[in-house]
Amino acid sequence: MKESVLAVREVENIFADILERAKGLDPVNTRRWFDQLAVLRLDNGALEIGCPNQATVEFLQENCKAGFTRAAQHITGHLVTVDFKVNRHGSHVGEFEPARPLLKLHPDYTFDNFVVGPSNRLAHASCVAVSQSPGNTYNPLFVYGNSGLGKTHLLHAVCCETMRKKNGAVIQFLSCEGFVNRFIRAIQEGNLASFQSQFRTVDTLVIDDVQFLSEREQSQEEFFHTFNALYNNGKQIILSADCSPTEIPSLEERLISRFSWGLVTRIDPPSYETRVAIVQKKAELRGVNICEEIAEYIARKVHANIRELEGSLTAIYAVSTTTGREITLELAQTALESRLESVVRHTSITDIIEAVTRHFDVRLADLQSKKRSQSITTPRQICMYLARDLTKHSLEEIGGHLGGRDHTTVMHACNKIKQSKNCDPQMQALLAELTRQITQSR
Ligand code: ADP
Ligand code: MG
Repeated sequence: MKESVLAVREVENIFADILERAKGLDPVNTRRWFDQLAVLRLDNGALEIGCPNQATVEFLQENCKAGFTRAAQHITGHLVTVDFKVNRHGSHVGEFEPARPLLKLHPDYTFDNFVVGPSNRLAHASCVAVSQSPGNTYNPLFVYGNSGLGKTHLLHAVCCETMRKKNGAVIQFLSCEGFVNRFIRAIQEGNLASFQSQFRTVDTLVIDDVQFLSEREQSQEEFFHTFNALYNNGKQIILSADCSPTEIPSLEERLISRFSWGLVTRIDPPSYETRVAIVQKKAELRGVNICEEIAEYIARKVHANIRELEGSLTAIYAVSTTTGREITLELAQTALESRLESVVRHTSITDIIEAVTRHFDVRLADLQSKKRSQSITTPRQICMYLARDLTKHSLEEIGGHLGGRDHTTVMHACNKIKQSKNCDPQMQALLAELTRQITQSR
């Protein structure tokens, strides 16, 4: 192929084929906005793809480069190097451009793409309020909730909206682990002063997963001073964690109190209706059509966390693209059943017991003993419930693993936990989190 003499039209046609191929190769990362990608250059083994903004460039660079490279090589029959760039001419008016390369925002995590329901209404409203008027509404804003319920999504959305409103606003967004690691590096390299000025001079500081500060005394101390410097200058601080400030183990009293100065808001697991809406939103983002019946089916089947909900949708989409079949209810059922089957096939009671004993800080010997105190019976019953849910073991076998209890005891335990799950959002969230840990540790 003589790329240099290819007519524009021809290049565009080739690019359209590459795009189709790339979508098919990687359905998980395909997004509806791929249609806005444009070919900037295709010659001498180089393909330059123009993207609507920096966030999409980073998303593609990180997640899609391999897929696009394979697609390009397949379509052209040549080795091709793929590069993504912001398409200045094609970019949309009002699109934000991060002022600092440090600010890596996920293009999907915007307020527009966030489905609001009773479980997250307050958290969402507070984030919107803060993005409208940073430093003036809730300061700090502390969002907490179990894993996979949308904390990181909301934090990205605040940054994105703040940038959109005030281009040039200096925002520092990082995970707490990132903060701690950079602090440690600054100490090692002897440039604490530059570390401090970097964090103390921003307009908005966003730290995700601050439970990571637990037991890191020196980082807590540093964070305390960063917090004070920003707060006293009326700068916005936004924090997230998997539990409330008071529940973070060994967090200094003065930090607990500061974290609660503004607004502390919780995200709960989403209701059925919210789950249906989220599935529809995620499908729309990927440019996939699914009917209401299928969205309802997925929402009924998956109630753990939203990441899991998305995973189910992806599994369905993957089956549809690899088999070339349309997404029907039947296809969705087969895809989800085989996904759940594979979880069941690979989970052992030992995995479950390990996760539960770790969470409740009890010993296996206690679970197997005759002890009947609440602190032992609850974890024991949760083990039984999860074993029933995630493995194919019989009631007798489950009872056998937990101190030789008979099948009626196991049945009673399962019913009890099921009931409490239905009326207690905390229990629902705990079971979802344990399920996630158990199934992801495989
Ligand atoms: P967390 O930080 O609480 O663990 P994330 O923000 O990473 O959770 O969310 C996990 C996934 O669920 C993300 O893909 C996110 O977009 C999605 N998600 C969570 N809540 C919502 C929501 N209300 N609407 C749309 N997507 C959501
Ligand atoms: Mg998160």
